[in-house]
Amino acid sequence: MHRSEITVDLGALRRNVRTLLRLLDGAELWAVVKADGYGHGAVDAAGAALGAGATALCVATIPEGLALRDEYRIERILVLGPASSNREIVQAREAGLELAVADAEIPEGVRVHLKLDTGMGRYGYSEVPSPPAEVVGLMTHLASADSDPDFARAQLERFRTATQQFSHLTRHAANSAATLRLPESHFDAVRCGGAIYGLSPFNSDPTDDVLEPVLSWQSFVAQVKQLQPGQSTGYGRRFVAEEPTWIGIVPVGYADGFQRALTGTEVRVGGEPRPVVGTVSMDSFAVQLDRELPVGTPVVLLGHGMLAEAHARVAGTINYDLLSGIESGPLRARRTVIDA
Ligand SMILES: *Cc1c(COP(=O)(O)O)cnc(C)c1O
Repeated sequence: MHRSEITVDLGALRRNVRTLLRLLDGAELWAVVKADGYGHGAVDAAGAALGAGATALCVATIPEGLALRDEYRIERILVLGPASSNREIVQAREAGLELAVADAEIPEGVRVHLKLDTGMGRYGYSEVPSPPAEVVGLMTHLASADSDPDFARAQLERFRTATQQFSHLTRHAANSAATLRLPESHFDAVRCGGAIYGLSPFNSDPTDDVLEPVLSWQSFVAQVKQLQPGQSTGYGRRFVAEEPTWIGIVPVGYADGFQRALTGTEVRVGGEPRPVVGTVSMDSFAVQLDRELPVGTPVVLLGHGMLAEAHARVAGTINYDLLSGIESGPLRARRTVIDA
């Protein structure tokens, strides 16, 4: 028996893509499926997004792009991050990947998108170099579309001015947050990751933006015990019972992606929200119960109202970080794909 089950609902992903497309007024939607589709499974996520109207895929690395090229014959797979070797560039050329390029050397024989740094302060040119024939797109990336729209607008204005004379090239700037909040960011295409998975780019409730979480994660209570006053659970004795206290042990831990900083968050045990208590271990954590429950009682970690955004606030991080860290595979959670 698997210690936990991840369910990826491609129906929800398709609905999210359609919701985003309705905002676009003609711009294309490119699905960002880097980091194994933010932990959802890149191949499945890509197929569902393309089926719902996305017209291209974006990944972070050339190996990610090659893996998708084996599955999908679509025109455009754009690699957002830098190549790590010349060999990779050769592979990208042979596979017909497109590359985002941000430095002096523009590789030959590969379609490239020049990346402008308009304020992200990461990869990018400070102005558009005279574009050679290989250039098919101009792009920039926003630093604060989720938190400081004024700064994002200033970046967009810089991008618009710098790229004005190249309007025959595909221009793209928006991530999920900008797609949702800044219509002037849409240009010719938007690059949406988080939102297609139903993750709020604002780390707030995704339903506020009519987005549905795509991934749910369920486990069970593997052991139930009553702590007596003075007894504790877990490393460091960070939870000590003050009165007789029922706890359940859930066989999921930080090695599965249930981060160590999640002490205090709530999971749903037998239908009721219950707090995670004590230190999260590598392979298990404890929940406080209000009564004795049978071993095997289901525990919902994500989905069915348990929001990644709420967990992320407790852990001092963001939903993307939690989701891209969930481990599935033969030794960890079992992953099931549904279409609901
Ligand atoms: C990851 C990434 C995106 C997608 O951002 P979301 O907030 O997940 O939509 C878009 N553009 C670039 C360059 C990225 O690296």
